[in-house]
Amino acid sequence: MPFFVEVILPLNLAKTFTYRISEQEFATIRAGMRIAVPFGKNKIYTALSVETHENPPQLYEAREIHQVLDENPIVTENQLKHWNWIASYYMCAIGDVYRSAMPSALILESETLIRQNTDFSIDPNDLTDDEFLIYQALQQQSSLEVHEIMAILGKKNIFPVLRKMMVKNVISLQEEISETYKPKLVRYIRLHQEFEREENLQELLDILKNASKQKELVLQYFQIKAVDKKPISVKRLVESIDVLPAAVKALVDKGIFEEYHLQHDRVDFEDRLEERDLQLSSAQQKAFDEILKSFENKEVTLLHGITASGKTEVYIKLIEEFIASGKQVLYLLPEIALTTQLVARLAAHFGNTVAVYHSKYSNNERVETWNQILGNSEKAQVVIGARSAMFLPFHDLGLVIVDEEHEQTFKQVDPAPRYHARDAAIVLANQFGAKTLLGSATPSIETYFNAQNQKYGHVELSERYGNVLLPEIEIVDLKDKYFRKKMSGHFSDTLCDHIAKALSNGEQVILFQNRRGYSPVVECLTCGHVPQCSQCDVSMTYHKAKDQLRCHYCGSSMAFPKQCHACHSTDLTTKGFGTEQIQHELTDIFPNAKVGRMDQDTTRGKFGFEKIIDSFKEREIDILVGTQMLAKGLDFDNVSLVGIMNADNMLYHPDFRAFERSYQMMTQVSGRAGRSSKRGKVVIQTYNPYHNIIRQVTDSDYLGMFTEQLYERKIYKYPPYFKLIRLTLKHRDFDKLKQGAQWLYSVLSQNLEMPVLGPEEPPVSRIRNEYIRTIMVKIPQDKPLQGTKKTVRKILDSFESVAQFRAIKVVVNVDFY
Ligand code: ADP
Ligand code: ZN
Ligand code: ZN
Repeated sequence: MPFFVEVILPLNLAKTFTYRISEQEFATIRAGMRIAVPFGKNKIYTALSVETHENPPQLYEAREIHQVLDENPIVTENQLKHWNWIASYYMCAIGDVYRSAMPSALILESETLIRQNTDFSIDPNDLTDDEFLIYQALQQQSSLEVHEIMAILGKKNIFPVLRKMMVKNVISLQEEISETYKPKLVRYIRLHQEFEREENLQELLDILKNASKQKELVLQYFQIKAVDKKPISVKRLVESIDVLPAAVKALVDKGIFEEYHLQHDRVDFEDRLEERDLQLSSAQQKAFDEILKSFENKEVTLLHGITASGKTEVYIKLIEEFIASGKQVLYLLPEIALTTQLVARLAAHFGNTVAVYHSKYSNNERVETWNQILGNSEKAQVVIGARSAMFLPFHDLGLVIVDEEHEQTFKQVDPAPRYHARDAAIVLANQFGAKTLLGSATPSIETYFNAQNQKYGHVELSERYGNVLLPEIEIVDLKDKYFRKKMSGHFSDTLCDHIAKALSNGEQVILFQNRRGYSPVVECLTCGHVPQCSQCDVSMTYHKAKDQLRCHYCGSSMAFPKQCHACHSTDLTTKGFGTEQIQHELTDIFPNAKVGRMDQDTTRGKFGFEKIIDSFKEREIDILVGTQMLAKGLDFDNVSLVGIMNADNMLYHPDFRAFERSYQMMTQVSGRAGRSSKRGKVVIQTYNPYHNIIRQVTDSDYLGMFTEQLYERKIYKYPPYFKLIRLTLKHRDFDKLKQGAQWLYSVLSQNLEMPVLGPEEPPVSRIRNEYIRTIMVKIPQDKPLQGTKKTVRKILDSFESVAQFRAIKVVVNVDFY
């Protein structure tokens, strides 16, 4: 009787695959265990078992698995269920979900090795030419990897040759799996058993009477032991006393000390723990009570709390409540930038009960957190993380908090799965019967719509902690001639005056410009030529510090041209401005101010953000210039002024969410001003002072913005009234792409009774030499969502079966952001 296991491969494959297993493996393999399996010609993958059964596959001969890698499941049934939901809802391959859900260190690397069978004597004359080449190579090195053999034979399909050599018993094939996760081991020391008792101390000191340093160490050891009452690491011992590690080694050599190793967690907050009794204000307490009340009959609740209303403290109280009842808590944040401050705040409160999980943590750290959560460790009952934290192996999730729920970074753009972490987390919470709290000062239209319709609970927190008023907002009209005359660079005199005042009061300033680099466009004043990226249809951004032009889409760069490439004129100018230019101008206008910059160019590396945020917090920086990173929940207590350098490029972004986003961005950045005691000030510079959004920001009129935007969404057929699926087609051949896009568009619009738009040329219509066209499917509320997706999937499958379109890439983005 044959036995089989069904596995998911970590590849862009929608189906599971069937492999043969032994009867004994059939008895031990459970869903969620990793299994190394051969796939394709010469590769081994870490697959994941989903079930065992006795039905041979219909379409292919099942191969045997290579080896079972886990004794116990490392992925839970709940996770598998959640992955299936993601694959089906976001129309992507289950293999893609698996690959991105796991810390990469858990998907092991494999190498196929060839060895020579040494117990057989071989006559080289019996070998074919190919075989002889391999034989020869194996004389020089004991084993060969598959790619080396390919190189030796100069061909890809080497397995027929190898199979023959195996039959002749010349070689054996051996696949080695290298595990990449390594636990962190720390050296510890203890006295040998016979000396451990105090009575024997005198005897021990006698032995050491001529080695004063070693004697000192032994005495110190007893002292630490009495105080710490826990195992003593070599580091602890050596650092507590002025001796060299060599003395420890000498004692080990004499058999007095014994060395051993203990496994340590890589991330440890224990030292940071400071008990702080948290007192909620009466407004916070009221919100807290209302949230608990709302949880009684709603799965999801929105906490709409203005900036600096103290939402975080309300979250902390809630977390306490849930972990006290033994539940796990997931706390999602839009971006890493936020976590530094927040982790410090939460670690101070909860110590090691908190774990942090995001892509800037190392592989090993992530595996450690994975295992802690899987093992229901005391540590890691509260997980803070960016969107991928949602993939951890929870087993008793009680609460999910999505902070700054309106942030678009919760939607993964690339690669697949293109999921929205807020929405996927709500589904996850439902699986556990857990509650979800969505928090924001500027909720997304979709979420607020759900709250208004009572699908979600709705709690308002509308005063700032400590009763500080929201900042006073002043608009500078850049069209006005009077203002225009008094500009220094991109600074109006109003803004300059306020900066000067803040600086003289010893207060700090934040300046927001939603563009990095020096300026987005370089232009020849003689012929009007604008340098474009050679691979993308977009102008190159000037970066002054490196004197370079850079493409923000593909990353390519070139030296700033000395003359125009078109007419050789040297009369080149720059247009528009980014954060680098603002920083530059500041050094002229305020030569004594210390200016810092926070954007993608200055925050690379694990601690990039941390450094800038810390030095701003420590007041080593007076003025912080930055992009939208500044809008994400940062909490500084000495910022009295926020300047928005130019509101217009946000407003006129070609995107149905542009107005909503402009409102959110400006309100959030403004919210950084005057958070703790004194009322803050905001200056917004714009060419459109009478724009509705500007007025709504100035008046903190969220409801006005919401009502107006919702109305437009209805008229123009956008969410929440319509669900969007965007299809992006890419190919290097322009004509082929155009034909393909047209074909797909026609078939979709013929088969779907709903709006299908396109094929459209996006604003940047070529990236890395691939041309791009988009098609948008708009699914109205009264049409079945999953049914429509099935039709779209069928049409995509037939598109792929058209020979001439096969090479066209199609990216499917459900709930397009
Ligand atoms: P939000 O996230 O709503 O913008 P925060 O949670 O960052 O606001 O709170 C704003 C500031 O007020 C923070 O510095 C926070 O430490 C402080 N704060 C809020 N609530 C309390 C409280 N109950 N006790 C002490 N400080 C508080
Ligand atoms: Zn020119
Ligand atoms: Zn480019």
